Amino acid sequence: MSNQIRVRFAPSPTGHLHMGNVRTALFNYLFAKKHNGSFILRIEDTDFDRVKKEYEDSILEDLKWLGLNWDEGTDCGGDYGPYRQSERINLYREHADRLLNEGKAYQCFCSPEELERKRKESLSKGLPPRYDGKCCNLSREEIVSYEQKGIKPSIRFKVETGLIEFEDMVRGKMTFKGSDIGDFVILRSDGVAAYNFAVTVDDALMKITHVIRGEDHLSNTPRQILLNQAMGFDIPEFAHLSMILGYDRTLLSKRHGAASLKELKGEGYLSEAVINYLSLLGWSNPPLPPFTKGGRGGIREIMPLNDIIKNISIERVSKSPAVFDIKKLKWINSHYIRNKDIAELTELAHPFLTKAGISVDTVDKNWLYKVVDTIRDNIETLSEIDKYARIFFDEIIKIDSENLEILKDNTVVEVLKSLKDRIEKEENITEEIADKIILYIKEKANIKGKKLMMPIRIALTGKTEGPELKKIMSVLRKDEMIKRINLAQKPIANT
Ligand code: GLU
Repeated sequence: MSNQIRVRFAPSPTGHLHMGNVRTALFNYLFAKKHNGSFILRIEDTDFDRVKKEYEDSILEDLKWLGLNWDEGTDCGGDYGPYRQSERINLYREHADRLLNEGKAYQCFCSPEELERKRKESLSKGLPPRYDGKCCNLSREEIVSYEQKGIKPSIRFKVETGLIEFEDMVRGKMTFKGSDIGDFVILRSDGVAAYNFAVTVDDALMKITHVIRGEDHLSNTPRQILLNQAMGFDIPEFAHLSMILGYDRTLLSKRHGAASLKELKGEGYLSEAVINYLSLLGWSNPPLPPFTKGGRGGIREIMPLNDIIKNISIERVSKSPAVFDIKKLKWINSHYIRNKDIAELTELAHPFLTKAGISVDTVDKNWLYKVVDTIRDNIETLSEIDKYARIFFDEIIKIDSENLEILKDNTVVEVLKSLKDRIEKEENITEEIADKIILYIKEKANIKGKKLMMPIRIALTGKTEGPELKKIMSVLRKDEMIKRINLAQKPIANT
């Protein structure tokens, strides 16, 4: 086996990428990067009934969105292509014929109905539903007679009965019994390669050194090891990553906050946050001294990609299922929102603002940057941005009856009057000047805290919470603020 590390992500395009797939792709990518290896994207599309081109496109798009760029794949080619299984049918046929000629596989003429009946029989007797080997030793005449009846055979692999052992990088030593497996189909009667066979041929011909995948594939590994041995291929290293469960320990689904990456994207999670969160999920990262920046509870939770690559170690991935914690992901996301380059963040926020009916295309770019910058500390996902963005875009600020009550306090008349006077006098309201204005009102009206800030906030934004007032004041135009104060003063004047 060459020293060059080669790993692959091999999705079946039968649905959108879910968290488990993303984690598998990510660990393969990180492992390749750490070892200066190659990351290969192979599309396993032999389940013709369920495969859809739109899913394949969506998988590629999602991986690109995450920045998990591959070195070889369906779109960019590579030395070991084609990288789509449906284009490799002849290779599978060739290898199946070789096994057949070497007596390591045989033609099986059993009908699906017969196999199903025997399967049920075994199960009802409490036996494992293994193939009984009926076609293993057919005579030449029997084969010819089946062929004359027009029955197309599948090809079955002969499984030796001994032990199959391997060292899993996550789970340690694994042992399976060949006798539990039974001869299995490698090429179906319609000529389509079965999953285990296609994967083994592909991994070998693509010179894959490490197979990192979900633990749902663990029981396939002994089959793939046997096939590798039979075909004289090197056996790759295996790492089976645990499942990702929801907080209630059931399989992750929509109700846990995220099943597919599409949903997370739609909610406005940043790719860096998803990568950061999923990389450290179920990975026993060595604890940090308490109170380290980017850490909570002594564990470093904020880690940029380069550090993750440096630190990643498959052996430290936990064997037990990982529990998806949407709150932690949100917390990490808010960190990346706060620290993102403002032009890039604004670009990312654009579709969320547009979707909320806020038209941002005609406004000055630098002003829009200020708006987004003002809001970013208050949100955890980009889909929340419109909640605060409206205060900068709405023509009319509505003050609901509850907030109106707050404005009716007898101190408010003076507060709003002073606010307007001072704003009128200023040429350009920066955060510093806004601070000074607030301080001036505080002294003039002799009030502080909520009583001071709340009426100002309500008058300027219609809300009782939101970004820092001085920031809001430095973003809103002067005439807009005066218009809003006038509006807020009206109902009070009438009381
Ligand atoms: N195509 C398989 C899946 O999507 C993965 C195969 C493998 O990693 O061996 O689950």
